[in-house]
Amino acid sequence: MTPRRSIIPVFIPHLGCPCRCVFCNQNSITSVDDCKVACSKNDKNSGNACHGDLTLSGIGITKGMPMPSEIGSIIEDGISKAGKGAELAFYGGSFTAIHPSLMRSYLEAAYPYVSGGLIGSIRISTRPDAIDNEILCRLRYYGVRTIELGAQSMDDRVLKLSKRGHTAADTERAAKLIRRMGFSLILQMMVGLPGETPGSPMTTAHRIADLEPDGVRIYPTAVIRGTELEQMWKSGEYTPLSFDQAVEICADLVGFFDSKGISVLRVGLNPSEDLSGEIAAGIYHPAFGDYCKSRLVYRAARQLLSGVIGTGRIRDGGTALFGVERRHLSLFVGQHRQNINKLMEEFGLEGISVFDREALSVTNYKRRGGSTGKIYSFASSEGFDEILSGKEMIPAKKSTITAGSQVLVEFLGIY
Ligand code: SF4
Repeated sequence: MTPRRSIIPVFIPHLGCPCRCVFCNQNSITSVDDCKVACSKNDKNSGNACHGDLTLSGIGITKGMPMPSEIGSIIEDGISKAGKGAELAFYGGSFTAIHPSLMRSYLEAAYPYVSGGLIGSIRISTRPDAIDNEILCRLRYYGVRTIELGAQSMDDRVLKLSKRGHTAADTERAAKLIRRMGFSLILQMMVGLPGETPGSPMTTAHRIADLEPDGVRIYPTAVIRGTELEQMWKSGEYTPLSFDQAVEICADLVGFFDSKGISVLRVGLNPSEDLSGEIAAGIYHPAFGDYCKSRLVYRAARQLLSGVIGTGRIRDGGTALFGVERRHLSLFVGQHRQNINKLMEEFGLEGISVFDREALSVTNYKRRGGSTGKIYSFASSEGFDEILSGKEMIPAKKSTITAGSQVLVEFLGIY
């Protein structure tokens, strides 16, 4: 995991958005109320009419959104909590699609804090079709270092049904420009959008990986109240993924990005106090990311056991021991011991015992069979107690470990 810089967030919900994507209600997500959309242009692909009101000075700021004149106090407040060097982040809208004079006002308000070294940099999130050379030059001039692009899908059909108003080609063009100009690039993708096929998320992931982002965020689709997607769901036009389907797909994606060396910065919506009441259907769980990591750990443990059980190297009904870093214990065990129970049932194990990887020394074991060092034989149950006393995080059923028992010991790496 990449160490993260503290963030000072500035929420500008829907500011600059030329249309309303069917799944999006930033007012709920950011808890900023009473916001209306600032239309900077018409939705060129879906044919949606812009439906926002131009308000304050005709540039789209509405009640609840900070004025440029308030940015300084937001930064100072953020520095008092997070310390110097934090990153200012404009979230919740399409930053580069807002009125140019307003965008410049926001950046000018923040710039003295960047040039003075009080904040480390600025991060913005925006749409792929709102990026060009001129905009990027301006962002760079004012100290923006990271750009988060909402790709959401690389399937044009899915993008159209979601009324995103841009294409996959827009994302590719924007991502290449952003990288060429030396910004850090974060790409966001969604899972479970309307029109998605089982293969869509992984196809999207491959195309996103080809763009060599510095990190990705993965969001399973939640049906947020007040969105067009809620109407589609109510009419039967849209069926969300089940929780388990979403976990399987997102675990695949996390594993894939990890294999490519691309940091997964987040899986699932940020939990906010008000959000659970705003979700009508679909996927929202504050610990969704942990479910996905836990699924990956289950798969890894399953693969390890498959390699030894049923091969004659360890008998059914034995006990498997796993060495796991203490901080990862809950991921290994799974919610409601789901991983442990599934593995025991699947492999006919008498018990699974988990030990602190750091504390577990295998030098006291007599090693048996093969070169992998995974199977050990205990000289006596007393020896077992002595060796592992106080080090087990999930104790084995010791009655199952007797003199001569063959036990699988594996050190499991976890993301
Ligand atoms: S462009 Fe982004 S912020 Fe705007 S409506 Fe679509 S998803 Fe929401």
